[in-house]
Amino acid sequence: MAQIANDGENGMPQLARASPRKLTPEQTRRFETYMGEMLGALGLDLSSPGARETPRRFVRAMYDATQGYEGDPKLITTFKTECHGGPDCELSQVVEGPVPFFALCEHHALPFHGTVFVGYIAHEHIIGLSKLTRLVRLFARRFTVQERLGQQIAQTLQEILQPHGVAVYIEAHHTCTQMRGVRELTPSTRTSFWRGHYEENPSLRQEFLRMTSPPLP
Ligand SMILES: [Zn+2]
Repeated sequence: MAQIANDGENGMPQLARASPRKLTPEQTRRFETYMGEMLGALGLDLSSPGARETPRRFVRAMYDATQGYEGDPKLITTFKTECHGGPDCELSQVVEGPVPFFALCEHHALPFHGTVFVGYIAHEHIIGLSKLTRLVRLFARRFTVQERLGQQIAQTLQEILQPHGVAVYIEAHHTCTQMRGVRELTPSTRTSFWRGHYEENPSLRQEFLRMTSPPLP
């Protein structure tokens, strides 16, 4: 049976720790007023039945879309593997994904969305797909950029699993450029991040990238 490691706040990576946000009812009402003023000035007819509640819904949607700032204490549960770092298991990589995500670009507060693939070379711990999905959401549901998202996923996997290496591949569409008529030369932005053995071993990187293709639409 699997054994739980790093239970509790002490063993938890800094970025996964719970830190609830405080938004008072008075603040929320004020933000809704601001949003109504802005959306109305931009052209939304706030008196129409469909839009009357839009300022309130918008503030709520932004709040929900940035839940990652509150941390995720459930994320930390990892499981012992059979392997204790022998030569065979050391070189076998685990690749998981695609994990879909939605994030808000910190430059425009508009969504960017796509998929994440994660690879690692396990030492004593492995992480299941549901935990990995939690990890991706923890950092995606924030105001962020694609580069930081990848670094934080890689860094936290490193801390939780202490593997021999971590690889993260992200492919995303950025609505902040796509919605506004900027001509795009490529339909998506692709980034990769390497830690440990992946940094030194090109064939591991190639194998990982092969396992993450074909690219998603
Ligand atoms: Zn942007």
